[in-house]
Amino acid sequence: MAVFDLDMIKSVYARMPERVEAARKIVGKPLTLAEKILYSHLWEGAPEKAYNRGVDYVDFAPDRVAMQDATAQMALLQFMTTGRPKVAVPSTVHCDHLIQAKVGAVDDLKVANEKNKEVYDFLSSVSNKYGIGFWKAGAGIIHQVVIENYAFPGGMMIGTDSHTPNAGGLGMVAIGVGGADACDVMSGLAWELKMPKLIGVKLTGKLKGWASAKDVILEVAGRLTVKGGTGYIVEYIGKGADALSATGKGTICNMGAEIGATTSLFGYDRKMAAYLKATGRAKVASLANGIKDLLRPDQECIDNPELYYDQVIEINLSRLEPRINGPFTPDLAWPLSKFAKAVKKNKWPEKLDVGLIGSCTNSSYEDMTRAASIAAQAAAKHIAAKAEFTITPGSEQVRYTAERDGILDTFSSIGGVVLANACGPCIGQWARHGAEKGERNSIITSFNRNFAKRADGNPNTHAFVASPEIVTAFAIAGSLTFNPAKDTLTNEKGEQVKLDPPLGVELPPLGFDVKDAGYQKPKKDGSGVKVAVSPTSDRLQLLEPFKAWEGTDLTGLKLLIKAKGKCTTDHISMAGPWLKYRGHLDNISNNLLIGAINFANGTANKVKNQITGEYGEVPAVQRAYKAAGVGTIVVGDENYGEGSSREHAAMEPRHLGVRAIVVRSFARIHETNLKKQGMLALTFADPADYDKIQENDTFDILGLTTFAEGVPLTLVAHHADGSKDEIKLNHTYNTSQIGWFKAGSALNLIAAEV
Ligand code: SF4
Repeated sequence: MAVFDLDMIKSVYARMPERVEAARKIVGKPLTLAEKILYSHLWEGAPEKAYNRGVDYVDFAPDRVAMQDATAQMALLQFMTTGRPKVAVPSTVHCDHLIQAKVGAVDDLKVANEKNKEVYDFLSSVSNKYGIGFWKAGAGIIHQVVIENYAFPGGMMIGTDSHTPNAGGLGMVAIGVGGADACDVMSGLAWELKMPKLIGVKLTGKLKGWASAKDVILEVAGRLTVKGGTGYIVEYIGKGADALSATGKGTICNMGAEIGATTSLFGYDRKMAAYLKATGRAKVASLANGIKDLLRPDQECIDNPELYYDQVIEINLSRLEPRINGPFTPDLAWPLSKFAKAVKKNKWPEKLDVGLIGSCTNSSYEDMTRAASIAAQAAAKHIAAKAEFTITPGSEQVRYTAERDGILDTFSSIGGVVLANACGPCIGQWARHGAEKGERNSIITSFNRNFAKRADGNPNTHAFVASPEIVTAFAIAGSLTFNPAKDTLTNEKGEQVKLDPPLGVELPPLGFDVKDAGYQKPKKDGSGVKVAVSPTSDRLQLLEPFKAWEGTDLTGLKLLIKAKGKCTTDHISMAGPWLKYRGHLDNISNNLLIGAINFANGTANKVKNQITGEYGEVPAVQRAYKAAGVGTIVVGDENYGEGSSREHAAMEPRHLGVRAIVVRSFARIHETNLKKQGMLALTFADPADYDKIQENDTFDILGLTTFAEGVPLTLVAHHADGSKDEIKLNHTYNTSQIGWFKAGSALNLIAAEV
C-alpha cells in the first residue's frame, strides 16, 4: 500500500540540483548535507544569500507535517480556526500516545478505543475533512510509521513530537515543533528557524560484540549532555556511518532530541536504499540514486570536517562499548564494564524489576531480532527472565512481520509480554501495579527519556536507558549488576551459562508484511465532512483567541513560582494521566507546573498566593490571580522546557494569565512555543540575577512599548522590604515574533489573513 506522495518527492528532487549549485556558489565552499537540504527548502526559492549559522532567522518550506494524537488535537483545533479548506502540504496524524499499557496488546487496544472514542473520532473526521492521512490506534508509533512510509532522503519535515528527528535515519531534515508551527505549515505559511549550527560526528570502525547503534547516541549524549546539541544539527559522517542500518541510524537521530539538537541526520547510502526498497519504496530509492551526490555531504566535508562543521566529535565504533545511561537523566552514560560498580557505589536498587524494549527509538525489525537472539539463547539454555519483560513493537508492520517470523513467540518463551504498537510506558501510559506505593526500584528500557516519574509516575523508579539487547539480557538476569559480556547466569539445572553477543537481521528475509496497517486515506473533497466537538466534552474544547497585548508596559505582576533546578515540559504540563485532556485547554491547565519544585520551600505544587498569604496548588493559585485580574510571572533555571514539544506547556500559562516566563535559558522548542502563544519568553542577561528573585516580589516589565529585535527589556523586582532590583532581560524575538506578541498569538495573525 503506497501512502507516500511520489510527485512531491519528484518535485523536491527536480529543484535540488539548481538550488544546491546556487548555495555552493553563495556559501563559497563545499557543503554539508544539512546545508544542501536547508538551502533546497528556502521559502524564497533558490538561495540568494548565505545565512549565518546560529544568527539568522530563515523561512523554510517543509515538505511534510506529522502529528501524534496527543499534540495533534491542539494543532488541529488551531488549524480549524484558520479558515483554510485543506492542508497545504502532505500531513499525517498518528494515534499512539493515548493507549495505556496494562495487560497486553489486544485488551489494551480495545480499552483505548473505547476510552478515547471521542478523541479518535475527532481526529479521524478532522483528518478526513482537511486532507490529512490518519493512522488509527494500533497502527504504530509516529516515528516508526513515518520512517516506514514517508521519510525520504533530502526531504524536510516538521512533526509535533520531539523525536521527529528519527527520520534523519533516512537522510531527512526532520524537526520537532509545537502544534502552532505545524498549523502554520499546514496553512501554507513559511516556517521559521534560526539557521542551525552544525556538529559533525565522524564515525570510524565497525560495531562489534554487544555494541549497537543505540550505544553511539548514548555515548554522544554522555559527551554533549542534555544541552550540548541546542541550536545544532548533528550530522553523522564517515565510513562507520555508512555501515549502520537505516533503522540504526534512525535510533541515533531519534535520541538526538536528548541532547537538545534541532535534528540529526545521515547521508544517503546503500543501507537507506535497501530499507526504502524493503518498505515498498523502490521508486523513491531509484529517484534518490539519480541525485545521490546531492543527498550526501561533499567529500571534502567528510575528509576535513573541522573546516566545515562548528564542532567535530570522533567515535571509533570498533572500540565502542555498550552504554547504560541514567538514572533520571539520559546523559549520565556508563560503559557496561563500569556500570555494576556505579550501581553499588550510588546505592541504586540492584534488583531489576522490569526490562522494557521497543518504543519509537528501538523497535525496528533489526532491534527485535537482536533482542530475540538473546531471548532465544536464554530459552535454549533453560533460563527464564527474572524481571518482568515487555515488548512494544513500533508499528503493526513490524509486529505482524515479527509474529510471522516467530520472534514474538521467542519473547513469550522467556515470559515476555507484547504490548500494543504504541508509546505506552514510554510516556507514562503504564498502569504499573504498585507504582502508587512510591517504592525505590529499578527499571531498564530501550526508550529515550528517563526523567523522574516519566514511565510510571513513581519518583523513586530509577529508569536506565540501553539497547534492546542489553535490556533483554538484564531482564533475564534480573539484576543491574550483571555484565552480559563477561558474567555467567545459573540456569534451571544449576549450570553456569553465558549469553553470546546478539545477532540481528537488518531486514526480514521474507520481506515485510502486514494485513491491516491501520491507515485511513482522507477524502478527496472533505468539504462535506462534519467535525463535531461537544460543548460539554471534558476531552475537547474549541479554542478562543488569546487577547492582544494591551499596548503598555506590564506592572504589578506577582511571582507564581520560581522553579528550582530541572523544569522539563513534564514538570510544566505532566503527561501520564493528563494526556487525556490534551484537546481541552481549560481542563489540562489544572496540571500547570505541578511538577516544578518551588525554590522557596523545596516542594512541588505548593506556592504562595500573595493576595491571601496562603499556600495552594499552582493551578489554583494562578486561577485566583486570574480571577483577581493580577498578572504573574514564572521564573526558571537553565534549559527550561526541555523535553517534549508539547505546546500545552506554553498554552496553559497563557490561558491562566501568566504574562512572562523569565529563565536562565530555554530549550528551543519551548521558547518558540511560548512566543507563538503570545507569551513573553525572556532570559536573565546575567544568570546570577535568578538569585535576586524572592517569593514576595512584585514585578514590572519595562520596555515593551519600544519592544524591538536585539533590544533588552527590564524587569523591576520590588521586594517586600521596600528595596528593588532592576534586572536586564534578554530575548530572541525578531520583528515578526514581536508581531505575534502584540497580536496575542501567531494564530491571531494567521486567522486575520483569511
Ligand atoms: Fe512515543 Fe516515547 Fe517515542 Fe515519544 S519517545 S513518540 S512517547 S515512544
